[in-house]
Amino acid sequence: MAYIIRGMNDFSPATDSHTGPFKPRRRSVGVRVGSVTVGGGAPVVVQSMTNTDTADVEATVEQVEALARAGSELVRVTVNTEAAAAAVPAIKKGLARRGVFVPLVGDFHFNGHRLLTAHPECADALDKLRVNPGNVGRGSKRDPQFTTIIEIAVKHDKPVRIGVNWGSLDQDLLTRLMDENAKSAEPKDADEVMFDAMVESALRSAARVEEIGLAHDKIILSCKMSRVQDLVRVYRALAARCDYPLHVGLTEAGMGVKGIASSAAGLAVLLAEGIGDTIRVSLTPEPGAAREKEVLVCQEILQALGLRAFMPSVTACPGCGRTTSTFFQQLAQDIQGYIRERMPAWKERYEGVEEMKVAVMGCVVNGPGESKHANIGISLPGSGEKPVAPVFEDGKKTVTLKGDAIAADFQKLVDAYVERSYPQRAA
Ligand code: SF4
Repeated sequence: MAYIIRGMNDFSPATDSHTGPFKPRRRSVGVRVGSVTVGGGAPVVVQSMTNTDTADVEATVEQVEALARAGSELVRVTVNTEAAAAAVPAIKKGLARRGVFVPLVGDFHFNGHRLLTAHPECADALDKLRVNPGNVGRGSKRDPQFTTIIEIAVKHDKPVRIGVNWGSLDQDLLTRLMDENAKSAEPKDADEVMFDAMVESALRSAARVEEIGLAHDKIILSCKMSRVQDLVRVYRALAARCDYPLHVGLTEAGMGVKGIASSAAGLAVLLAEGIGDTIRVSLTPEPGAAREKEVLVCQEILQALGLRAFMPSVTACPGCGRTTSTFFQQLAQDIQGYIRERMPAWKERYEGVEEMKVAVMGCVVNGPGESKHANIGISLPGSGEKPVAPVFEDGKKTVTLKGDAIAADFQKLVDAYVERSYPQRAA
């Protein structure tokens, strides 16, 4: 079945209003990026970036589609060569042919001024330009090259992200701040000056962007760091000094568990303080692994914080000595997989289904209790228990499953629960 994929967070369920112990979202200006709003009270936007060669239209279309279908509401592609710039309009058209209208962001470094000048159709096809002020040129070349990019953004009416990155911080600015610091009566340590330089680079660049002629509500800022503590420190300072929407994420989160844990740690602190309007988790994919994992991690972080709901949540117990078989682990995995598979169709059809809570528990100790708190839950038999699995729906025991087909039977019950409990969307 084909679905039209659009980034449109304005219409996604968001529960920003009940952030519990969290600070309310900071007030930021809303920036329109294609069909998506970043900041201005809109739900936090999930974004991702491709790792294909942008010049390879087919591979890039394929990956952007996969990221968008996984839930990425903005997708960034690098635009690093003439061939990449020339490919962008074809990528946009290729996506449209597949019913994918997710906003595309172009990432420019070093030669962005030249590429955008030579390929106006590239600027036109993109929904946002990302510019790294540390990588637009040195010395006397910096300002004219930066100005060229921003003038093109103004001409094509495109928003811009000023993406400062500590690995490519504007060295002229850093040197100037280091010199000033050395002459001050109470010099700060080198790290502190570097943090100041990150924030200054973003704010001074944004001021220059406005001076060149791009509107205040066309600017998004980021100051990415690779260590969690530094990220938190820099973003607190940045958020205190401006009302531009902020794109938040570690610059190089790393691989696997480390990348996920570091990203969750940094983003959770900032989002709980109301800082961050769009997030990316920059995971290094394991060889051959799907790129979409970074999208799922963003969604899980936002859902765990109660900021957005993307997917019914499955509560599964960790298992212990009372579960001698892997049966319940398999069932929890099957149910999670089944829900992910069914979700695109459910979401099209049933309102609020992403708020559903499912429990898959391993034994009688916490099984019935946890299952009663879920919308639908199953308590599997632990070792030594009678081989039956009571199912609870909306707090009441409705049926007891037994035999070899417990997993399939439970999936049918979940299907029926969804059909019965969530109103169908108007066609
Ligand atoms: S619910 Fe039962 S099987 Fe699961 S962790 Fe608790 S005691 Fe162990």
